Amino acid sequence: MLRPPSKKEEVHFDNIDYYLTQCLQKCRESLKVCVAWISWDRYAPIFKRLAEKGATVEIIFNNDPKNSGASRLQGIPGITLYPVNTRRKNSIMHNKFCIIDDTTLLTGSFNWSRNAATHFENILILYNHFDVIKEYKHEFEDLKWHYDFYSIAENIVCGSKEEGSRHPCKSTAYHLGILGASRGYNNESTVTVWKLCRVYGHAKLISESEEIYLNDTLFSENEDDHNFPHTKDAMLQSFDGERSRMTRVSKYFSDRHELQIDAVGIVSIMNEPEHLKYQEPPEHGIRILWRNMYSRKIIPDEFYDGESDGVDEIIESTLNSNYYD
Ligand SMILES: [Zn+2]
Repeated sequence: MLRPPSKKEEVHFDNIDYYLTQCLQKCRESLKVCVAWISWDRYAPIFKRLAEKGATVEIIFNNDPKNSGASRLQGIPGITLYPVNTRRKNSIMHNKFCIIDDTTLLTGSFNWSRNAATHFENILILYNHFDVIKEYKHEFEDLKWHYDFYSIAENIVCGSKEEGSRHPCKSTAYHLGILGASRGYNNESTVTVWKLCRVYGHAKLISESEEIYLNDTLFSENEDDHNFPHTKDAMLQSFDGERSRMTRVSKYFSDRHELQIDAVGIVSIMNEPEHLKYQEPPEHGIRILWRNMYSRKIIPDEFYDGESDGVDEIIESTLNSNYYD
């Protein structure tokens, strides 16, 4: 068996620009740059040269006037530009990382905009750290997705009307899919989609379907995914598996429920060890299995019974649908 390529790491506090350029020039296959602001005078010629040599160059940056120099790379074969719009002024993209040939990662405080060279900065270079590189590749793809999604995103408004109140709730909401447990010999299960209010936890059932148990089909993982990826090929395989799982989930909800799903979860017993071991009464909650890129920083990992009337309603309704009448 071949020995996996050995990991190596470097950190630089001086001559950062030199080391960065050295790394970029070694690129052969692919370059993914995700940097808030870039000195295009300095880097555009490098990107162009790499593309001419056959590398696929993708660049994510903030869509703001400081990056207007990006226009000189527009339409060049092999180069794709992703100017990212941020939805709110206070959520500007601050990333500064790049991935070279899926084997080298550069990250750190170093600004790719020219005037920053004189400040105290650092750059960390990781070679063959495939576990870390895989996470950065996900972030890169997520941001590209975010860029596409931004243009089509609808702002979901809660609209719930509480008893006695005259005005419907104006808070934003998201679509939460709940996969019911499987029942009977045929593994039937109910899938529900709820509009869940971000601020007050109002919940409204908006779609429901009967399925053959979906949990395995939508979320099944490759056995290999649990193994630590030691080689570039293993990492790429595991990465592709994880990406296709995300697409599968989105596609299922848009096909069957005709909506853009934000998160998917299951109702489960949150105190399972105590419940099984000490017979403590079960405390139910919602565990989130999946979130889309835009929602992942907004929607928590877990919701607990008693958190809001809406969450309680989702839990109760799901538990009821898990059994035949
Ligand atoms: Zn609401």
